[in-house]
Amino acid sequence: MSDPFANALTQLEAVGEVLHLNKHTIDSLGQINHLHKGKLSVQMDDGTTKEFLAFRSQHNDARGPYKGGIRFHQNVSEEEVKALSMWMTWKCATVGIPYGGGKGGVVVNPKELSQTELERLSRAYADFVTPFIGSWKDIPAPDVNTNGQIMSWMLDEYEKNIGQHQPATFTGKPIELGGSQGRTQATGLGGVYVLENFLKYFAEDNKDWAKKDKKDITIAIQGFGNVGYYFAQEAYQRGYKIIALSDSRGAIVNTETGFIPEQVMAHKKETKSVKDFAGAQNISNEELLELPVDILVPAALENVITQDNADKIKAKLIIEMANGPITPEADAILSKKGIYSVPDILSNAGGVTVSYFEWAQNIQGYYWTEEDVTNRLKKIMAEASRLIWHNFLDFSANQKNVNLRLAAYSLAVQRVVKAMNLRGK
Ligand code: NAD
Repeated sequence: MSDPFANALTQLEAVGEVLHLNKHTIDSLGQINHLHKGKLSVQMDDGTTKEFLAFRSQHNDARGPYKGGIRFHQNVSEEEVKALSMWMTWKCATVGIPYGGGKGGVVVNPKELSQTELERLSRAYADFVTPFIGSWKDIPAPDVNTNGQIMSWMLDEYEKNIGQHQPATFTGKPIELGGSQGRTQATGLGGVYVLENFLKYFAEDNKDWAKKDKKDITIAIQGFGNVGYYFAQEAYQRGYKIIALSDSRGAIVNTETGFIPEQVMAHKKETKSVKDFAGAQNISNEELLELPVDILVPAALENVITQDNADKIKAKLIIEMANGPITPEADAILSKKGIYSVPDILSNAGGVTVSYFEWAQNIQGYYWTEEDVTNRLKKIMAEASRLIWHNFLDFSANQKNVNLRLAAYSLAVQRVVKAMNLRGK
C-alpha cells in the first residue's frame, strides 16, 4: 500500500513546480505543525481494559483554525492522518473558507465494539484532544465510521472538561446539539453540484459524453456510506443513471434499469450489504472501478486507483468523493489516457463547507434554514469550480501539462502561501 503522506508531498512538489515556488516555501508547506499521538485506555464491557492508538494531526493554520474529521478505522496510521490533515488545508483554501487543515483518527475496528464501548472510546478521544482543540483552535468533525452520535459524546465530554458550552468546537453534530440543517447530505450534494458544473464545462468544451441527456449519463459509485449514499440519491433525483454501487463487502451492477438508491439502502440496512440486491449482478469492488461508465465516483477509502488498475479505468470523468482515492502514479496514467478527475479537495468539500456554516451558526447563536444552507453551498461550490476550470484553461493555453488536480492545488496553495506571507512566515 503506498504511503499517503508521501503521495501528499509528491502532489505538493508538483504544484510547487507549476507555481515556481522556492524550496523553502515547499518545505514549509510540507511540514505538519503538530502531531499529537496518544494511547486511549478504554474499559470493555467484560471489565477488561484495552488500549487504542489515537492521533490528531494539525498541518497548517495560516488561514484559520485547524479543521478536519476524526476517523475510526483499523488502518488509521500516522502517515494517513498527516496526509489527510494536509489535504484539509488545501480543501479549505480551495473553497475559500477560513480554516487550516487538521485530521484525527483512532486505530480501531468500531464494528467490533458495543455501543457502550464506542461511547467510552469517543469520550476517551475527546479527553485526549481537549488541550489541543477549541472553536478558534481546531474544530473536529465526523469522518469514516464516526457520526453525529459520536460528535455528541465528544462534545459532551469536551464541554465537561472546559466547564462551559462551546458547540462550535465540533461540527457534524445532530440538530438538537447545534448541528446545521443540511450537514448530513452536504458532502454528497456538494459533489453533485461539482459534477453538474464540470459536465457543463466539458459540454462547452465539446465532449460528447458530457452533452448526453442526464438519463443516459451512467454513474458507478464505490462506497455506499454517508458520502456515497447521498451522492447517489442527489444524482438519481436529478435524473442521472446510477448503474453500480458497492460497500466493503462487495459491489452490484445493473446496466439495464439502474438503481434507486433508497431501495438499495433499505436492502443494505436489512442485510448489512448492497450485495444480492434483487435484479442486480454481484461483482467485485475492483470490477466496479473498471466499468465502462461515464462517471466514476470513488467514495470509500484512499489509494483505490493505483498504477495497477489505472490503465483499466474506462470512465470519462472521475469525481473523487473519498479523500486521496487516486495515487500520483495512477493520476499520471489517467491524464495520459484523457480521463479527467475532479480532485477530492474540491469534489468532497461540500462537507467541510456546511461544517463551516454550522460553526458560523454556533458562533452567532442564530440558525439558518435548509434552503439558506443549500443555496450558500451551491454558490461556494460553483465559484470554486469556476476558478479551477479557468486555472485549467489558462495552464492549457500556456502549454503547461496540468490536470484538474494541479489546477485546484495551484488555487489552494497560492491562497495558503499568501496568508503565510501576510503573517510574515
Ligand atoms: P462511511 O463510513 O459512512 O462510508 C464508507 C463506505 O465505504 C461504506 O459503505 C463502506 O462499506 C465502504 N467501504 C469501506 N471499505 C471499502 C472497500 N475496500 N471497498 C469498497 N467500499 C468500501 O464514510 P463516509 O463518511 O461516507 O466517507 C467516505 C469517504 O469520503 C472517506 O474517504 C472520507 O474521508 C471522505 N469524506 C467524507 C466526508 C463526510 O462528510 N462524511 C467529507 C469529505 C470526505
